[in-house]
Amino acid sequence: MTLDGQVALITGAGRGIGRAIALTFAQDGARIAVTGRTQESRERVSAEIVAAGGDARPFELDVTQDNEAVQAVAEVLSVWGRIDILVNNAGIIQYDTPVWATTVEEWDAAMAVNLRGMFLCCRAVAPHMMERNRGVIINIGSSSGRMADHEYGPYTATKWGVVGYTVSLARSLRPHGIRVNGINPGWVDTDMSRALNPQGDPDWSTPEEIAQTALFLAGQAPKDMTGQFIDVFGSQ
Ligand code: NDP
Repeated sequence: MTLDGQVALITGAGRGIGRAIALTFAQDGARIAVTGRTQESRERVSAEIVAAGGDARPFELDVTQDNEAVQAVAEVLSVWGRIDILVNNAGIIQYDTPVWATTVEEWDAAMAVNLRGMFLCCRAVAPHMMERNRGVIINIGSSSGRMADHEYGPYTATKWGVVGYTVSLARSLRPHGIRVNGINPGWVDTDMSRALNPQGDPDWSTPEEIAQTALFLAGQAPKDMTGQFIDVFGSQ
């Protein structure tokens, strides 16, 4: 168990990839701050972990809200006194075709969750990690953050932004003992992908496969591995 006793704060942990990361980290001994904007799902995942013998608590966190990021971090610290791992997983996608006709509302919504939300959570957690001179931040990007396509304009822009911010933050936090890396999944079988492609595809990754990649980055990755993305989209 590489994460034994560590505390992980995971955004958007109530379903999909975030839920899988929460369960996987808990199985590996981590205490999980199951954060999310929807009360029912964050409480359900937290209860699921506790029922399996793990340690977890739900915390309210809409990542678009700076005050909620600051408040959630303060609450987690008051419960466990430490945050070792932050996983910025919360994300949304819209189907914008043609991309040039994207509305301002769609653009702003994608930026607010995928990019600004990640930034707000990093900003809220970093001072605590710097104080302890240790920490791991994992940002969930996308294959759309490596290869542009013709359908998801703002989503693609946010995910390229996730890569850029992650690498910049990694360089800035390296002297403080904090590793910042990311994962670029391809299609993963979750509500997000099923909303775009209801019939699914056997080639898609499972949320658990992405969670195992996150577990490597959180636990076993070399201490000097920072500012890197692991691409998990062999089928694309
Ligand atoms: P889902 O749609 O299944 O889940 C999205 C999660 O993000 C939900 O928990 C949702 O919470 C949460 N969320 C959305 N907006 C906010 C917000 N404002 N504040 C807090 N939480 C929020 O998506 P996935 O699990 O598939 O996606 C997770 C991440 O993986 C995303 O960043 C996505 O871009 C990325 N990804 C997914 C791929 C895929 O094929 N599925 C491929 C590549 C990347 P709620 O339940 O409240 O809506």
